[in-house]
Amino acid sequence: MRILLVEDDKDLQRLLKKALADAGYVVDMAADGEEGHFLGDTEPYDAVILDLGLPKMDGVTVLEKWRKSGKTMPVLILTARDRWSDKVAGFDAGADDYLAKPFYTEELLARLRALLRRAVGIATAEIEIGKLHIDPRASRVTYDGNPVKLTSQEYRLLAYLAHHRGKVVSRTELVEHLYDQDFDRDSNTIEVFIGRLRKKTDAGLIQTVRGLGYSLEDPKLGGKPAEA
Ligand code: CA
Repeated sequence: MRILLVEDDKDLQRLLKKALADAGYVVDMAADGEEGHFLGDTEPYDAVILDLGLPKMDGVTVLEKWRKSGKTMPVLILTARDRWSDKVAGFDAGADDYLAKPFYTEELLARLRALLRRAVGIATAEIEIGKLHIDPRASRVTYDGNPVKLTSQEYRLLAYLAHHRGKVVSRTELVEHLYDQDFDRDSNTIEVFIGRLRKKTDAGLIQTVRGLGYSLEDPKLGGKPAEA
């Protein structure tokens, strides 16, 4: 999952970037509203954490502009504790959730997980697909009851496919959502990781849809995945 963090406070930037990276997210940073707006407008993010008090363009304006141009990614706004009117303005502009500063990083991560789940219609904290069981809270995976040891890269890929279960996810989409801009998009890294995931779980768990991409679905269910 790729997250955009728009925050001008240097300490908070550092703290959140590390916490998000430790939790397995790819993080892009913007330190002012204009840059944040530009990135959110041009790059595909799974969610955005948006401070409201920002230089150059305030957070509410950034959010309004995204929503007006049809951007639907979940947005969690950060507000100052005593500015309750900011929350109202934020929600009216299209925010999905908010946190008042100061906050506990754990709460931010929990709210982010909930937003990412809801965005794809998953209501529970843990994901079960056939024998595959994923607990995003601890980045833990079991298959048929046995723990599966994954590298952080392999986990990110599996979690993304699991969040989009039953859909065909293209290689381009995976590259865009799992790596930052420096990633070599022509490499065959994705195929290598898919191969490893199949070896560590079940060869039939992740299907290759020729010419389109990959799909994760309970092999028991059979049938062709929807090409969405
Ligand atoms: Ca600020």
